[in-house]
Amino acid sequence: MSRAVVSSYGMRTFARKWPVSGAGQLRRTYAESVTMQSASSAAEPGNRRILLVEDEQTIADVVRDYLLQAGFQVDVAGDGFSALNLAATRQPDLVILDRMLPGLDGVEVCRRLRQSMSVPVIMVTALGTEDDRILGLEMGADDYVTKPFSPRELVLRVKSVLRRSVKEFSPEPPVELAGFELDPASRTVTHRGAPLTLTVREFDLLAFMLRRPNQVFSREELIKAVWGWDFGDLSTVTVHVRRLREKIEVNPTKPELLKTVWGVGYRFDAKGDGRGGH
Ligand code: CA
Repeated sequence: MSRAVVSSYGMRTFARKWPVSGAGQLRRTYAESVTMQSASSAAEPGNRRILLVEDEQTIADVVRDYLLQAGFQVDVAGDGFSALNLAATRQPDLVILDRMLPGLDGVEVCRRLRQSMSVPVIMVTALGTEDDRILGLEMGADDYVTKPFSPRELVLRVKSVLRRSVKEFSPEPPVELAGFELDPASRTVTHRGAPLTLTVREFDLLAFMLRRPNQVFSREELIKAVWGWDFGDLSTVTVHVRRLREKIEVNPTKPELLKTVWGVGYRFDAKGDGRGGH
């Protein structure tokens, strides 16, 4: 019964995207959500800490309220430097990062976060141009949402990313293949004994491919299996494959492990050992 309520509400929300301007409409959408949230039970466990980086106060307030309502703990930063300080002191489980920020912009914040921590990042881009999205992903974002967006959709994305970064119950067994030792329980992976620093989605993508060597997967299949999306921008997969290659291949432009099968998709070649002919 609650499922019907949730899905019918979801369709309404998706059909009517969140207006960035027009505070009256914002409040009405929010009030609807509070009602529906209480009707749809407690959803997932929610003691995760989210760092919300957003300089527009109205948007920050609404998104924070949605996250609190979903059971998350929330810290809010209004600019890039505060975001980095809060990330260091509060150790969030996930960062929602606006692309356009005063001072240090979101892409630079993401790049600096990536130097010190592997926290998942959802980038919020203003115009939703493809360049913006790709740039965010290149800088290490795990996912992105374009404005105007529905706060409910954002909360779903947050839960989806967290589900993949926190495997609390019966983690999958470790994998050893082609010089990789990957352990889902500790979210660690080494290649030829050297630890790799991977983002949440890079780790999931590598784990998926290592478990299925020598099989070809299309980008559509990967976005469903690894990202858990029924639909989505396939360039997300392309960018993650490129980033992963930069971390695992001797020569990322001539991959020996994660190969492109032209016109079909990607295949992890278990015969390659990552030495790239050396
Ligand atoms: Ca902004």
